[in-house]
Formats: sequence, structure tokens, C-alpha cells
Amino acid sequence: MLEVRNLVKKYGKIVAVKDVGFSLENGTVGILLGPNGAGKSTIIKSIAGLLRFTGDVRIEGMPARDVNAKRVFAYVPEIPAMFEMLTVREHMNYVKQAYALDVTEEEIDALLERFELRDKQDKLGNELSKGMMQKVSICCALLIKPRVILFDEPMVGLDPMAIKELKNVIGELKSDGVTVLISTHMLEMVEELWDVMFVMEEGTIIGEYTKEDAKGKALDELFFGITG
Ligand code: ATP
Repeated sequence: MLEVRNLVKKYGKIVAVKDVGFSLENGTVGILLGPNGAGKSTIIKSIAGLLRFTGDVRIEGMPARDVNAKRVFAYVPEIPAMFEMLTVREHMNYVKQAYALDVTEEEIDALLERFELRDKQDKLGNELSKGMMQKVSICCALLIKPRVILFDEPMVGLDPMAIKELKNVIGELKSDGVTVLISTHMLEMVEELWDVMFVMEEGTIIGEYTKEDAKGKALDELFFGITG
């Protein structure tokens, strides 16, 4: 479960996120939807502990900064960061060691296979395309077997096969009771998977819909906000 209360993030004088609050139950896929600059990435990065902010973020009831919360949490950034001199497989092993994970080599093989990285496993970080880096980043996050996972614009830059596989993965996470938060401006990519949508504009959530609420509404009506 993920709970966000009174989240405020300022960059100097710019208030990027203005008193945002929401919660997501276990096994729920939440979407942060909104135009460029609405504050989606800032919320995701704040929850992930990459930004200083005011407010309260809880993961499975624990403060997000708590080491035990970090153990059950994973984050897939919009722009993946990799170690230039580690291979794809070494990245997986790095995560395994850093989190002291009980993961077999076969499980690593299976994840690499799923994202068509098996034949790239010996490539160095600085030899990978952005899409490949994204796939490695997704594999590393899944290795943790998180209870809460955040994806920042996960579909951008992925090839169709990887998008299909990622959708399958999100469906599986959901049925395993994992809480998933996705920031996107491509609602059509996650349409069949989401449960709750938070429509954002200028740093605030201006609308919260369940899938039932959104039935019959055009995507652009949700995307551009609520009028009247
Ligand atoms: P996009 O879809 O373009 O990534 P977003 O909804 O994720 O947009 P954010 O990246 O969270 O939006 O940006 C929210 C606001 O904060 C914008 O006005 C942006 O210009 C500003 N902002 C983001 N990062 C910084 C920063 N490092 N310094 C100053 N302002 C920033």
C-alpha cells in the first residue's frame, strides 16, 4: 500500500507540487496523468526519496525513508542510469547483492529472457541504447520483488515487444497484490490495466477517477481536466 499526504515540492520559487494526497491499496494500479510540467515526475521522485519535500509518504504503512520500506519498494526512472563499466548481468547481480536478495541465477536468466536481454547480458552499460537501459532498469526493479513499484513514463522509448511484456508484468504485479504507480501521458498504453487515475494540472490533482467513473468519457476529457 502507498499513502501520500500533503506533499509539497518547491524548486526555488516554483511550486511544482501543491499539497497532493492520495492512497493506493494493495493490488491496485494508479495512474498519474497530465500534461508536461503538471508535476508527475516530481511526485514520483519525491516518493522514491530522490527529492527533498514536505509531507508524509508511507509504503506498506512505514515512512518511505525507513530502511524496511526501501526493501519492499522499487522505482523505474524515466531516464535510466547505469554503471558504464558493468555489464547487464552484473547490474542484476549488483542489485541482488545490495538488497541481499535470495534470487537464483535461473531467475535472473528468466527476467533477462522476458525482456530479450539474454543475448545482451555481457554488454557494458555504456554500450546500451536507451531502450535497452530501460529494460535493464525494469529487470533490476522486478528482481527486488517489491510490494510497491513506481514507473515514471515507462512506455516512452520502449519497442512494441517490450511494451507488451511490460503490460504483462504490470498485470502480474497487480494480481500478486503489488501496488503500482505509473506516471504517463500515454493512457492508451495502460488502459486495460489501471484501477485509479489521478488527473494532474499545475501541481495539483484536479480529478480522481476509478475505472467505473471514467467509463464513457473520452481520453482527452480526462487528460485536459474537468470543466464545470
Ligand atoms: P513531463 O511529462 O514533461 O515530465 P511532469 O508532469 O513530470 O512533466 P515535472 O517534471 O514534475 O512535470 O515538473 C513540474 C514543474 O516543476 C514544472 O513546472 C517544471 O518546470 C518544474 N521543475 C521540474 N524539475 C525542476 C528542477 N530541477 N528545477 C526547477 N524546476 C523544475
